[in-house]
Amino acid sequence: MLRIAIQSKGRLNEDSLDLLKSIGIELDTPKRKLLSKAQAFPLEALYLRDDDIPHVVEGGTAALGIVGLNEIEEKGADVDVLCRLGFGGCRLSIAMPKTEEYDGPQCLSGRRIATSYPNILGRFLKEKGVDASVELITGSVEIATSVGIADAIFDIVSSGSTLVANGLKEVETVFESEAVLIAKKGLDAGERELVDELMFRIESETVSRGKKYLLMNIPNESLEEAIRILPAMRSPTVLPLADSAWCSLHSVIDASELWDKVQQLKAIGAEGILVMDVDKIIL
Ligand code: ATP
Ligand code: MG
Repeated sequence: MLRIAIQSKGRLNEDSLDLLKSIGIELDTPKRKLLSKAQAFPLEALYLRDDDIPHVVEGGTAALGIVGLNEIEEKGADVDVLCRLGFGGCRLSIAMPKTEEYDGPQCLSGRRIATSYPNILGRFLKEKGVDASVELITGSVEIATSVGIADAIFDIVSSGSTLVANGLKEVETVFESEAVLIAKKGLDAGERELVDELMFRIESETVSRGKKYLLMNIPNESLEEAIRILPAMRSPTVLPLADSAWCSLHSVIDASELWDKVQQLKAIGAEGILVMDVDKIIL
């Protein structure tokens, strides 16, 4: 039985549970419990505050964990980062009141910077040779400058709207983060096998994210050009149609390229273009 530590509530909880569900692992009890067993896979979830996940995995109480890379970096936990999970994206940045001038890290010398991430900030300041004072606060960091606790803050930013709402501007991005799957060091052979199976499933899930399945009818004389427009995993599928002057072409593309490709394909005579979501891609 593998144990995975998951955030009990907060920003990563729902996406972590959704990821497990999407790879066929449903947890069968409400998340108010500390532990719950999965159906159809030898896995149990341990629900914790995200701050506790790195050390719980490092110490082996849970073999696996899902947590922000920022927490691993801050805690300096000695764990293996197995893969990025494509959610919980954010960055750790220094921000200052928008009325203040900023012309590089040196202007932070002698200033007070409030943060819940003293280690990551401390390393950045050291690397830049800046002697600033780090004020540790654990919540509402964004109001630290307006209440006079600090001259700048170092905090998590995603859209930046919280900074703007508090009259701050982002002046330095120090660390880029997203949710990651972590494992304790030295998994035994049985655990390794289960983790490999999980990783295989997660990969098929993350690879398919943002992909579209495209099929269309194309006149035979445009087929070569259509294949050039549509790169496929190996090569696009081409099927004959009852009308021998036409064929059916199938491929998988990134959603971001969809409209550009559709325009190019229409221009060479493609008709009846169907676009579908892709659930899983097993490579
Ligand atoms: P806990 O009660 O578990 O300690 P928390 O309040 O420390 O929760 P959350 O705000 O739920 O933490 O954030 C969890 C993680 O989500 C962060 O460590 C970070 O990796 C990620 N995250 C992504 N976007 C944001 C954001 N805009 N603000 C805060 N965290 C974010
Ligand atoms: Mg926390």
